[in-house]
Amino acid sequence: MKKIVLFFAAIMAFVSCAERTNPFLTEWKTPYGIPPFDQIRYADYVPAVKAGIEAQQAEIDAIVASQEAPSFESVIAPFDRSGCLLAKVTGVLYNVSETENCPEMEAIIEEVTPLLSAHEDGIYMNGELYKKVAAVYEADQSALTREQQMVLKKIYEAFVRNGVGLDEAAQTELKQINADMAVKINKIGNNILAESNAFKQEFGISVSAYPVAMTETADRALREKMFKAYSMRGHNGNDNDNRALILDVMRLRIRKAQIMGFDNPADYILENKMAHDHQTVDAFLADIMKAAVAKAKAEVVDMQAVMDEDIKAGVLPAGSKIQPWDWWYYAERVRKAKYDLDENLTKPFFEAGNVKKGLFQAAKTLYGVNVEKIDDVPVYNPAVETYKLTYDDGSLIGIFTTDYFPRDSKRGGAWMNNVREQYVDEAGNDIRPIIVNVGNFSAPDENGVALLSVDNVETAFHEFGHALHGLLTRCHYKTVSGTNVARDFVEVFSQFNENFAFQPELLAQYAKHYQTGEVIPADLVAKINAASKFNQGFMTTELCAASILDMKWHELTEIPADADSSFIDAFEAKACQEMGLIDEIIPRYRTTYFNHIFSSGYSAGYYGYLWAEVLDKDAFSKFEDHGVWDVDLARQFKETFLEKGGSEEPMILFKSFMGREPETDAFLRGRGLI
Ligand SMILES: [Zn+2]
Repeated sequence: MKKIVLFFAAIMAFVSCAERTNPFLTEWKTPYGIPPFDQIRYADYVPAVKAGIEAQQAEIDAIVASQEAPSFESVIAPFDRSGCLLAKVTGVLYNVSETENCPEMEAIIEEVTPLLSAHEDGIYMNGELYKKVAAVYEADQSALTREQQMVLKKIYEAFVRNGVGLDEAAQTELKQINADMAVKINKIGNNILAESNAFKQEFGISVSAYPVAMTETADRALREKMFKAYSMRGHNGNDNDNRALILDVMRLRIRKAQIMGFDNPADYILENKMAHDHQTVDAFLADIMKAAVAKAKAEVVDMQAVMDEDIKAGVLPAGSKIQPWDWWYYAERVRKAKYDLDENLTKPFFEAGNVKKGLFQAAKTLYGVNVEKIDDVPVYNPAVETYKLTYDDGSLIGIFTTDYFPRDSKRGGAWMNNVREQYVDEAGNDIRPIIVNVGNFSAPDENGVALLSVDNVETAFHEFGHALHGLLTRCHYKTVSGTNVARDFVEVFSQFNENFAFQPELLAQYAKHYQTGEVIPADLVAKINAASKFNQGFMTTELCAASILDMKWHELTEIPADADSSFIDAFEAKACQEMGLIDEIIPRYRTTYFNHIFSSGYSAGYYGYLWAEVLDKDAFSKFEDHGVWDVDLARQFKETFLEKGGSEEPMILFKSFMGREPETDAFLRGRGLI
């Protein structure tokens, strides 16, 4: 009997294997349409991407072939809806490749990158399609909703900005540039990951844990070694060296900008951002840099005083001066002396599960969001946790998943990803989003307890702010829903959410000692808040320096033909000198591991963090005036910003909330710079 069963089982297995269809090409019967990660195999991705490209091409062809007069409903709405299958595949692919990287995933990305780049070019350089889009754009728009007008504007601009108006020779060149760039950008990202893993192997800590490790390492020689290894990533003359690749990418970006009629990549990129041009960004950053460096110089004096005590005690040789590798360590010593804040005392109150309770409680109080953990749904890694968000009336807001802890296969840093965007489908169904937050927070110990640093907690609130922006959105069109807003506007909502992390009323509800359940003592809370303004000269300087370095690269109008790998060092040194950076500080990211600007879409956009902080601190000052937990104001914030996505111009939204233009006072005060 047993044998027969096995025999049939074998046949069944064989049959089901032969008939197995690619899960991407089936309708997902999973709860809430969560991707069936457990069913997906490496071999499924490439055919699914190809099928997704074909399907979207057929949708585009149908729009072009339609005999209907061009209108929003006959051209723009179907264009916005197109590419669902492709989005279904890439939503999973990018999520998994950044968190579960391996040679197989790298090969998949390498194979599909040029296909996707060519596909996008094929769409946005399709002259026939553009004619129809332009006809709708140039016609009377007064019958359209504001959201429809914004969708139309964004789609029209995407065609223009992707070269639809160029002649054939220029289009051919542009397509080649885009394809080459996509491959090289991907390689830069992989090199940074490999170099970061090498750092981890050498020092036993991930690059995300580097700042904390630097504060804790008393051995100065070791600090210097770690600093040099960290800041030389992508610059070691090995297989992962990014220098030549970066020069290649910059040449391609400059050429592309010039084909598009701009002097430099920065102006091309900034054309459709809030800031609009490089002069505005440069002036904005120069002002901040001045205030930040002045503060940083005062911080050096405080640190040198502590170092002098070490010299007196015979720990360091006479004449020792603060160097870039001393900053974290001595800042921590000053912090302890001035604020008596020891991270070892705060960490037990920030167990990862408790911190999540804090995130969710804030969203409940402010926006009326209920969060419920759901099990038995597919995940791409056992460490991933899934939550369902609803309103009190039971309506679904969306699905939220967290993937908080480091793995070798995971890219460094923290980010939010859309696995599925929100939109209303043709039948009128509101398709709710699926959003993931990824982090590299302090890993759990052998008992599974993860105690987060103050910085980790802030990052968790930051990424959940992005998630809320993606989740609470109530748009009709994917083009503008959720976080589909200008790059220098998107960080407003992540940073805004950080403002709530250490409010005493919220801490009382979540910051409980993981062993005793004791609520974090008030004096410790006071210390956290006092210390939050500490060291901001350094923090702002290194952030602002990286933002300026990004701008300098993208303001270039040429890379000399004979530029070799030494070009980057010389360029960086000159940029740092011109921006008034002091020797004790280097930019938060140096060129060869500046993932944001060379591989993550923040080129000429890293300033966006500071730009957005002006807006978020200004908006939060209204909460400080009304009471931080003012529910009416929070609902107004949700309706004005979080539900609207990109369906209105950022400045119009901002002014409608504040009743005036943005002011920088709250930002400068928040960073302790005034
Ligand atoms: Zn962010």
